[in-house]
Amino acid sequence: MTGSKKVAKKKPASKPAAKMKAVVKAKNPKPVPRRPIAHAGIPASLVPLKARIRSIPNYPKPGIVFRDITTLLQDAFGFRKLVDDLVQPHAGSRIDAVAGIEARGFIIGGAVAHQLSVGFIPVRKKGKLPWETIGVDYELEYGRDRIEIHKDAVTKGQSVLLVDDLIATGGTAIAAITLLRQAGANIVGCSFVIDLPDLGGRKRIEKLGVNVQTLVEFDGE
Ligand code: AMP
Repeated sequence: MTGSKKVAKKKPASKPAAKMKAVVKAKNPKPVPRRPIAHAGIPASLVPLKARIRSIPNYPKPGIVFRDITTLLQDAFGFRKLVDDLVQPHAGSRIDAVAGIEARGFIIGGAVAHQLSVGFIPVRKKGKLPWETIGVDYELEYGRDRIEIHKDAVTKGQSVLLVDDLIATGGTAIAAITLLRQAGANIVGCSFVIDLPDLGGRKRIEKLGVNVQTLVEFDGE
């Protein structure tokens, strides 16, 4: 046959290609704006840390004002600033590990350890760690509690920075310092987001010869 060339039929756009487009689109969604905290017209990046903390009266029991840092943690500017402010004073000092007290101390201490490029030691409530532990009992307002670390969590002579969200009476942090020292740590400092100075915890910790760093005070509030 002459003049009757077969013309390859153009294939219609295949379904998989169309699907791919949709997938690529889904992978690159519109950026979600950082969640700014509404605060009297002040740009989110300038809102002080204190204003990012939620205070909950009568929680967990009547008469206690619970200082809730979840509002600070969920805010990108706030969390970044919190970690930067905790790390900044330690620039250039020797820190071998960060120890964080369960549970909020894990969130903050983990981020601080990452920023300092050092390891993290979890200080846990009684019975939570899976291997052999050493622990210290301490007094609470009502009753006693115990904190523990793995018995190989600290290497003798390691310089350790202790981190938690808040000091009230200082009892928990003092128990952690005692425990870490028993394990051979050299405590280079304690860093907290919040101090409740009326409860005297800071002074008690300083009496042990430990430097205390706090970012926000709730004084008689
Ligand atoms: P203390 O041992 O008395 O210094 O208490 C400190 C520990 O208890 C920290 O781990 C805090 O997370 C928690 N805590 C004590 N008081 C408050 C409070 N008012 N708001 C939030 N957490 C608190």
